This record gives sequence, C-alpha cells and structure tokens, in this order.
Amino acid sequence: MAPVYFTPGPAQLYPTVAKHLQTALDKQVFSQSHRSQAFKDLYRRADEALRALLQLPADYAIYFTGSATEIWERSLQSVTAANTYHLVNGSFSKKYLDHAKWLGRNAQALQVPFGQGFSLEQVQVPAGTELLAVTQNETSSGVCMPVADIHSLRERFPEPLLSVDIVSGAPYAALDFGKVDMAFFSVQKGFGLPAGLGVWLVNERSRAKAATLEGRQYTGGHYSLQSLHDQYQQFQTPCTPNVLDIYLLTHVVEDMLAKGVAQIRKETEAKAQQVYSFLEESARFSPFVAEKAHRSPTVLVADVLEKPAAEVIAQLKAQGLVVGAGYGAHKEKQIRIANFPAVSEADMGALVSRLRAI
Ligand SMILES: *Cc1c(COP(=O)(O)O)cnc(C)c1O
Repeated sequence: MAPVYFTPGPAQLYPTVAKHLQTALDKQVFSQSHRSQAFKDLYRRADEALRALLQLPADYAIYFTGSATEIWERSLQSVTAANTYHLVNGSFSKKYLDHAKWLGRNAQALQVPFGQGFSLEQVQVPAGTELLAVTQNETSSGVCMPVADIHSLRERFPEPLLSVDIVSGAPYAALDFGKVDMAFFSVQKGFGLPAGLGVWLVNERSRAKAATLEGRQYTGGHYSLQSLHDQYQQFQTPCTPNVLDIYLLTHVVEDMLAKGVAQIRKETEAKAQQVYSFLEESARFSPFVAEKAHRSPTVLVADVLEKPAAEVIAQLKAQGLVVGAGYGAHKEKQIRIANFPAVSEADMGALVSRLRAI
C-alpha cells in the first residue's frame, strides 16, 4: 500500500488528483498555449471556483505566482515604500519580516516565543504602517491565529493594508476577506497538490495603493501587482504559468465545492479533536501549544516525551504513515502532523492508533 503523508507540505495529494491529471494528459492540456482561449477559459474557471470556495468579495482579483515565498516579496514591493509591521511567532512569519528587511523597509515586529500566539491587547501597530503582515497558521510551531482575532485587527488598525498568509490554513480557515486586504497560499499544503504554484488574493484597496507606487520604485517587475492585474483582466498571466497546477487546482477546488466547505471544516475539526484528545491523555506525547485557542486544527505539533522524535517517525514510516519532523531546532523533540482535507478520518484514526501503540 502507498504510504499516507501527514507532512505539512508537500503533503498528501487530494484523492482526485490522479484522475484529473490523467484526464489532462489525455486532453493534452499541457501543450496548449497559455495565450489560447482554452487557457483563458481555465483561468476563468479557476477564478470562479476559488471565489466560491473562499467567499471572496467582488473586488478581489486572483493572481498566480511561483510560490507563496514569491508573494511575500511581491506584496512588499508592490504596496509598501517604507513601513511594515509583522506579527512574528515562528519561522514563516519571521521570513515575511526578513523579506521586508532585505528590501530595506523599516520593518518592525511584535515577536512572541515559539509555540505561542498573540493576545490582541499586546498588538500595537505604529501610525504610518503601510502593511500589517500576519500568518494565520504558523506551520513551524502549530500555532494558529483565530480568524476572529484577524478580523478585530482590522477594526483596531483600519489604516494599514492587512496581508494574511493562509498557506497552511486554507481552505479550512473561515477568513472574512472583506476584513483583510490580501491573502495568499501555495497549493502543496491544504489543497493537496504538487508544489509550484502561489495564489495571491488581492482587493481593490491594495491595487489602489500599488498604483500610487508604480513608476516611483521597483514594484516587482513582471510580477508586480499592477502587471499581474493588467494580465488578469483578460485571464492572462505575465509569463508562462504552471498550467498543470492551475488545472489541478481548478478541478480540486470544484471537488471541494461539491463536497462543501462546511463539511471540510467539520471533518478537519473532528480529525484535529481526535489527535489532540489523544495527545492530552498520552504519557508519551503532549500537545506542544499550551493555549488551546491557539492550537492549530490544520498543523498539529506534538512533543515526544520519552524517546528521540526520529525513532517515532521511523517507526510510523515503516507502517506506511509519514509524519513531519519538528521544525528547525525542534527536530529532535517534536513531530508535526498535517491535518489537511486530503487526509481522511480513517487515515487519521489509523495514525492515532499507531501512536497509541508506540
Ligand atoms: C510553506 C509555507 C510558506 C512558503 O510556501 P512556498 O510554497 O514554499 O513558498 C509560507 N508560509 C507558510 C505559513 C507556509 O507554511
């Protein structure tokens, strides 16, 4: 039997990927020109499906890039000239901050220790901040920021553009896109697709800010927000995009819509509950994130108490269950379990019973 991947990206492929891939090969989709009507129709279909799944307001546009990492950089280049503010509680939120520093921005941050989230009273965003960057789900530590907290950031700090990294939270996270200005993800996490595509969701307010900077600084060249938007008007892209992933994304999102996002959320919560209850009662594992409200439903991190985490990982792997190692310095002591829609309740049940037997 093929192994099941509980790794937080690349992750288990969504169950319908193989079927869609075969259909695309049969139809020679990957040889069609990206300037053809067939591609424009595909982009339009992707746009409609994502809009429906994520409940995007009408003023949002959807652009394709190479990765989420690229969107960190392009977003900073396109909509900021000077001041950014970042909520940093792990490696991915830290990288968004790093990109701002590399670009010479006056990048400030509120940093909390690994494994912790933010309490809203702590957050003070300086006046003059152009972009407030938050990571809805820290894939490195298993800490999530409840969407209600993100929404109240907008109420408290209406001035800066609010940019949300939803890479390992989408499509589970029920973000109200009317209360943020942009969000982005790459497809190899919650969407269960091969890596190599970033998806950038951008509202009118962000585009208006980008327009004020165009011509005054480097805004990202062929992947500037403006350039992406000019092309998007015709469902086109500035350069040859990852058509394979766009095709698969379109079809997988349609499958998710057919299943229903409410059902996906319900299953995600049930699977997360299964794992967290086990971790709480176990003598050999414990949940890493202490604050329950900040425990991620989509990337679950466990401390391994009695033996090296690598032993647990190897033991599970021998049984066809591939979990992730702890991030960076936590490699020796933690495991990470991705709970994305591609992992079924039965798969998660099997993992928990193997963990119980360790
Ligand atoms: C994986 C990840 C990224 C980076 O995604 P790439 O596709 O590798 O660029 C960014 N943010 C978060 C939260 C992630 O988990």
